Amino acid sequence: MKLLMGLALLLITAGTAIGQTKPTRILMVGGGGSHDFGRWYGEEDKKAIEAAGNYQVTYTENTDSIPAYLKQSDLLILTNNQPINTAGQAAITRFVEKGHGLLLLHAAVWYNWADWPAYNLNYVGGGSKSHEKLQDIKNFVVNAGHPITQGVPAKFDFVDELYRFIPDPAAKGIEVLVIGQSKETDAVYPGVFTVKHRKAKIAGITTGHDERSHHHEAYKTLLINAVNWIAK
Ligand SMILES: [Zn+2]
Repeated sequence: MKLLMGLALLLITAGTAIGQTKPTRILMVGGGGSHDFGRWYGEEDKKAIEAAGNYQVTYTENTDSIPAYLKQSDLLILTNNQPINTAGQAAITRFVEKGHGLLLLHAAVWYNWADWPAYNLNYVGGGSKSHEKLQDIKNFVVNAGHPITQGVPAKFDFVDELYRFIPDPAAKGIEVLVIGQSKETDAVYPGVFTVKHRKAKIAGITTGHDERSHHHEAYKTLLINAVNWIAK
């Protein structure tokens, strides 16, 4: 009997291992002002990510639950500009310092939180305090060799807010992959970048205001590539 039970257990274990690999569990946090977070991140981007690979995305706007959710997550995507309490800030810090990956989308690369300067310094490598007027912006791939820009056209345009993203010289540095240029002022800012960190893979995409980027093929490719690169 003991032998039979042992055999059965062995078969169950082997079946699980062969049948399916565990999905990468992604926590996506949204919520705050000026955007339809639920529509464009919670629905559109979540659907695109889950269709692209073995990913399971949990979307929440309940920032108080971040510590609980992160215990069951492999990767974190921040899109929100609503406040994150000190427990949530500490949980995110522990998560990233352990080496888990982080993807920052649009509103999350802003200087949102005066009570958490370490966020912009260590995880964003700087930030935005303003943006160019909503307009058809020009995007140029400036590092075609990086995994995040594979399959992305060398130049593409869509209507979005070009964030005036300024790298912080006190930070560890960013690597710029795509730049955005305003047609109105010719000003150029980083559009897609990676953030240097000693353990974690971190990437940022500064665009994503509404459907005009979220429905654009180049945006979708950048989003999926960034998730794939971070998850690896
Ligand atoms: Zn916006």
